[in-house]
Amino acid sequence: MGDGTAAEHVDALFGADVFGTKEMQQRLPKDAFKAVRRALETGERLSRDVADAVALAMKNWAVEQGATHYTHWFQPLTGSTAEKHDAFIVPDGQGRILFALSGSELIQGEPDASSFPSGGLRVTFEARGYTAWDVTSPAFLQRGKNHVTLVIPTAFVSWKGEALDQKAPLLRSMDALSVQALRLLKLFGTADGVKRVYTTLGCEQEYFLVDRNLYFARPDLVTCERTLFGAKPPKGQQLEDHYFGAIPPRVLAYMAEVERELYRVGVPVKTRHNEVAPGQFEFAPLFETANLACDHQMLLMEAIRRVAPRYGLQAILHEKPFAGVNGSGKHNNWSMATDTGVNLLDPRDETHANLQFLTFLCAIIRAVDLHGDLLRAAVASAANDHRLGANEAPPAIMSIFLGDMLSDLMTQLEKGSLDRTIKGGALDLGTRALPQLARDSGDRNRTSPFAFTGNKFEFRAVGSSQSVAWPCTILNTIAADSIDYIATELEKAAGANATPAQVREAVPGVLQKIIAQHKRVLFNGDNYSSEWHAEAEKRGLLNLRDCTTAIPALGADKNIALFAKYKVLNRTELDSRVHIFMEKYAKEMLIESEAMVLMGRQLILPAVVEHQTHLAACVAQTQAAGADVKALKSSLDSFVALASKFIDALDALDEADNHHDSDPFAQGTYMKKQVVPLMTELRKLGDELETRVSSSLWPLPSYRELLFFK
Ligand code: ADP
Ligand code: MG
Repeated sequence: MGDGTAAEHVDALFGADVFGTKEMQQRLPKDAFKAVRRALETGERLSRDVADAVALAMKNWAVEQGATHYTHWFQPLTGSTAEKHDAFIVPDGQGRILFALSGSELIQGEPDASSFPSGGLRVTFEARGYTAWDVTSPAFLQRGKNHVTLVIPTAFVSWKGEALDQKAPLLRSMDALSVQALRLLKLFGTADGVKRVYTTLGCEQEYFLVDRNLYFARPDLVTCERTLFGAKPPKGQQLEDHYFGAIPPRVLAYMAEVERELYRVGVPVKTRHNEVAPGQFEFAPLFETANLACDHQMLLMEAIRRVAPRYGLQAILHEKPFAGVNGSGKHNNWSMATDTGVNLLDPRDETHANLQFLTFLCAIIRAVDLHGDLLRAAVASAANDHRLGANEAPPAIMSIFLGDMLSDLMTQLEKGSLDRTIKGGALDLGTRALPQLARDSGDRNRTSPFAFTGNKFEFRAVGSSQSVAWPCTILNTIAADSIDYIATELEKAAGANATPAQVREAVPGVLQKIIAQHKRVLFNGDNYSSEWHAEAEKRGLLNLRDCTTAIPALGADKNIALFAKYKVLNRTELDSRVHIFMEKYAKEMLIESEAMVLMGRQLILPAVVEHQTHLAACVAQTQAAGADVKALKSSLDSFVALASKFIDALDALDEADNHHDSDPFAQGTYMKKQVVPLMTELRKLGDELETRVSSSLWPLPSYRELLFFK
């Protein structure tokens, strides 16, 4: 480290706690290192000898850094990560211990995993579940007070080998996509030297920060990560003065610490800024291959939560913590790239001549049109229901924004001839003090759930708290399917042994048909508008508004066949997911409604009663003193009426949520239909009371206090 500039610190820090390729090369015998390389490049399995060598090197490295324990880290279907730590120690036979990690301990673990959701895949007495080392995601160190732990990324499967986690299907979907994309590249004659096609993923993570003391005074935030009551403050986000505003010093110090911890474990966090809502912020890492990006995304969420208390803050990753204020999403920027570094969704300059790009693009258009239900299901959660379709987030209708240049090309393709690419040109800013800017060939569209943004797609409907592995798995699978379809059509049209030139000749005809069939999914306008909702319905696009319709869509016959065909999920694995997601939804709704009743009874009602008592005493005393009580009396009357309604609504909710159906669909649908309307009503009354009860009596920190902290 030279003179100690911040940049040098970052450089020295980056990846310092990762057992990466460099460490392997330094520490492994040559043959073993070569075998690992092959495993990374081609997916070839490692022999037991090589695994032993890697385990030894990894353990030595970790112990040198102070590690005492290791853990197989995995991503069960709870939506978060799981870990069980084991010390490296083994008995040396003479009453002391040795530090060791064997190849088999590295490759395979067996957590007692019966308490993770399996959706019927395993009954409790069949508790066995295995974790399996993922060679493609490097091990790293987790550091904390009094401990350093070696973390080994793994997949989590049942005794029968069925996926119980997010990673196994993701890796399978990446394999499926690679196979199909390679096939298409071979047809175009551009597969030379390419062994694999990766999906690349870069996620923009939005989150809220609130003062931790205030957080603990809000049982709803503590229990549900969302406010169940809370009147709108006079100033919300109307002035739009928070977005990209100066970052408050406490928050900036916090962000820098999050970044430093993430740099150590190799997460390339690049961007930080204020988001639209007051108290809302964003981190965005650079994109990486999807598997790594998904693991890193989990680490990012953990770091966001972990570091906040050190600054007196609480991080909130919920999709809609505050009513009437923007929610949080996680834009998934997604593309496909060869292992030789070519981005397959890069349109290049003369796009009309770039038939390979247009082919991949049309595959995505077909995929989204055929499987909009899956994309919608991929982002379905109780929390995201509050966000999707509200007038500030992408709607639940899945459509694609292409922008002017690509839309024009689609029109040309549909007509059967391709002869021009619209250019953005230069932007003159009218003063010599400013440079001429290169203008993009199309504007952006913030309202689209799935937008082409230059050289990648941005899936915007993804929720801020969810694992990105599942949406990415679905994207990969539906893309693989449509690439497969197009490759087959091209083979049919051009003949089995066609040259790349002959394939290119067949391209416009094949794509023309695809556009004619699937252009209904293209929409460049305002996705928030009611006109679009009507138009989308006319076009026959689905509008799966909430979990009770979106989650069951996963189990449709066409989807069972799709996941089975590409060996991403078999029928049992898919069924189990539908079950788990629906159960999660039903349980979360019940927790919310019970939390609401408790808050209503234990916090709000006592304050209301006290306020009413003051008011009544005031009326009586004023009257006794012989003064005019008319205004006071009518204020008391209307307050009593409101309080009575609140009590009735509280009783109604308390009564209604007392419903337990063992079928998660029935339970979820009941919650949605019978309980949610009562919650909405109770909240309305509660929020109105908040604006009327003396603030010295109101037991909950207000939105103003929660949102406008510094
Ligand atoms: P935009 O201005 O369109 O938001 P940025 O360059 O700021 O684009 O990138 C936003 C996110 O998209 C970042 O996480 C970035 O790493 C990611 N990204 C950029 N290119 C790709 C790609 N080819 N594949 C996947 N993600 C990408
Ligand atoms: Mg973006």
